[in-house]
Amino acid sequence: MSQLLKGKNILVMGVANDRSIAWAIAQSLAAQGANLVFTFENERVEERVRKLADTIPGSSLMPCNVTVDAEIDTLASALKEKFGVVHGLVHSIAFAKTEELDGLFVDTSRDGFALAHDISAYSLVAVSKRIYPLMTEGGSIMTMTYLGAERAMKNYNVMGVAKAALEASVRYLAADLGQYGIRVNGISAGPIRTLAAKGIKDFNSILRQVEEKAPLRKTTDTAEVGDTAMFLMSNLSRGITGEVIYVDGGYHIVGI
Ligand code: NAD
Repeated sequence: MSQLLKGKNILVMGVANDRSIAWAIAQSLAAQGANLVFTFENERVEERVRKLADTIPGSSLMPCNVTVDAEIDTLASALKEKFGVVHGLVHSIAFAKTEELDGLFVDTSRDGFALAHDISAYSLVAVSKRIYPLMTEGGSIMTMTYLGAERAMKNYNVMGVAKAALEASVRYLAADLGQYGIRVNGISAGPIRTLAAKGIKDFNSILRQVEEKAPLRKTTDTAEVGDTAMFLMSNLSRGITGEVIYVDGGYHIVGI
């Protein structure tokens, strides 16, 4: 199995450093011959992302803060100019204020709720809206979610509610875009120690629980997520849309 993505132009959003899930996804995609474009959130992470992107020959870099419509417009125009056609979009972006990821969900502020939903859920819609017209040969869009979308998990709070909105958005986008041969799916990953996970209180005890209870008795590896994303970007998954695929060692199937 090689070069499954040869000639495919894929946009990867959400690399912050070499621990980012988006970075593992990029490596799986590059290994199958995809042409990658990375976005970075702001100047603070630009240098780090550039150094990583430089290790993948032929890849390029564009700025995009997903809270700013004008930046997404500019990104779409730049992609149109560079490739004409886009085949894939990897959305691996989320944010909530640290204070919302501790204590009780009932204490969530109006601002905190809106911000978490804007960056973690609406951004998928905002980016898809501008990128799907470039998917003139059909395409695959994927995003990253977590079990906290379906279960009330300690400290995950407003991020869980935003992930529920994200998963519902996956289904609505899939229903809209299927007529153009564009598929939209999510991967629900088990907990992984990344920059975003640092904001979640008691993350170590969450990892320990997974090691004890998941059928595979191990925590999730970013490369496992990367390979599933590669499957979703490839023609191998051509019959799948509107779906959330779990890459969590089976943790979500287990009762108490
Ligand atoms: P990460 O911190 O490496 O990635 C999060 C990314 O979001 C960063 O690259 C950051 O720059 C980007 N981002 C935040 N606000 C942005 C904005 N306004 N504009 C553009 N980009 C912005 O952490 P990660 O764990 O790789 O997270 C990637 C995705 O995976 C997130 O959606 C996260 O919720 C999801 N996820 C993570 C885990 C886990 O345990 N780490 C589990 C399941 C799902």
